[in-house]
Amino acid sequence: MLAVHAARSAIKVVLQLSCFYCYRSFTVVRDVIVVGAGPAGSYASYSLSRMGYDVLNLEEHREVGKPVECTGLVSARVTGMVRTRSGVNTVTGAHVIFPNGERIHVHKKEKTIVLDRDSFDKDCAGQSIGAGTDLRIDSRVRSVKVTEDSATVVYREMGTLREETARIVIGADGLNSRVRRDLFGTRSSRIISAYQVDSAAKLEDQDSVEVYVGSKVTRGFFGWATPSGNITRIGVGAHGGASLKYFNNLNAKFGQNKILGINGGGIPIAYLKKTYADRSLLVGDAAGIVKPLSGGGIYTGMVSAKHAADAVNTAFEREDFSEKTLSMYEKGWKSDLRSELWFDGMFQRFFSMISDGAFNRIYSMISDPVAIEKINEVGDIDYPSRVIISLILRKPGLLRNLLPGRI
Ligand SMILES: Cc1cc2nc3c(=O)[nH]c(=O)nc-3n(C[C@H](O)[C@H](O)[C@H](O)COP(=O)(O)OP(=O)(O)OC[C@H]3O[C@@H](n4cnc5c(N)ncnc54)[C@H](O)[C@@H]3O)c2cc1C
Repeated sequence: MLAVHAARSAIKVVLQLSCFYCYRSFTVVRDVIVVGAGPAGSYASYSLSRMGYDVLNLEEHREVGKPVECTGLVSARVTGMVRTRSGVNTVTGAHVIFPNGERIHVHKKEKTIVLDRDSFDKDCAGQSIGAGTDLRIDSRVRSVKVTEDSATVVYREMGTLREETARIVIGADGLNSRVRRDLFGTRSSRIISAYQVDSAAKLEDQDSVEVYVGSKVTRGFFGWATPSGNITRIGVGAHGGASLKYFNNLNAKFGQNKILGINGGGIPIAYLKKTYADRSLLVGDAAGIVKPLSGGGIYTGMVSAKHAADAVNTAFEREDFSEKTLSMYEKGWKSDLRSELWFDGMFQRFFSMISDGAFNRIYSMISDPVAIEKINEVGDIDYPSRVIISLILRKPGLLRNLLPGRI
């Protein structure tokens, strides 16, 4: 791997020198341009740089990690992929609070990590730079174009318009992906609007998140309060409308005048049908590779980034950047995630239609110790549908309450 890296670096230097001394109009063609330095973009850049490729990573903001639009809950699978000390808390439990005020408490042996997303993103990008990535901040991509033999990106770096060309481009530029718009001709279609604050309110149980369901606090999603070190992150998500009124209802439970900062954003919860094209791939939020039930997209984004790097590597080995070769990217990420995203998507659609009465009946059906034990045994933050499927198999009557129109 090191030999490949050294050879590629040498070729790059020779090309740059020949460009400088001989052919002023000659363009140095990069191996890969990655647009966006969130977790998915940084992980794709890191994986490819480690393989010895010349990677340019363009990030529109002046600081990686800012602004924060995340609660930061991840499993140890994520912290296994990045050297990071950005954890601010760990939790093992969740209180689920139903519309009638009743609650159940579930817990796991494995810890869920609460990240400081700003530091986490910087650690991801730092790891990628360490592997050789050329990261440019304050570099907003304005347009992307693919021709038969290259991909060209026009971007504004610190106010100056520039152009770079590569053999392949990866769009890791989040919900409003420019790469997706320019090369795939679409935008995200199903979006959860999330409103979150950093609050000075203190949760009694620092080892558990609080999850709220019901029409007062959400439409088609849920509300949450997460103990995050010195602060509590309180938020709600809503599908098909603004989330602020739900947030106000939820936040009232935590007392007045505790808000330290407002953050939030959109969460794409439907993945794009085709995430590859000639000389281009979409990863993470840009492709909608996010768990629709929980809105978690860090793990899924990084998994997709790893598969993207493997597919790009194969394309270089075959010297074939056509969508035929790159289709292996989609096969790869779907083999890991498709069934989870599919079940999640289906349950999320049901949840967006069920009534408070049905939620309260679900509470009565799952609050017995045997059901709670099952939840504790099967629950997995990265695969949330598993717990619902196992509960339905144990108590098929639950299905009746998931049907639309049940009061
Ligand atoms: C309120 C909220 C809470 C969440 N909580 C969790 C959670 O607890 N756990 C979890 O796993 N997920 C959570 N998510 C989802 C998670 O934040 C995303 O799924 C994750 O950030 C996706 O990573 P990404 O790298 O694909 O995209 P992003 O993190 O969005 O990164 C995209 C990057 O591309 C850059 N960019 C965009 N356009 C351009 C351009 N034209 N040129 C150059 N750069 C560009 C952006 O600046 C950004 O840095 C939450 C989301 C929200 C909104």
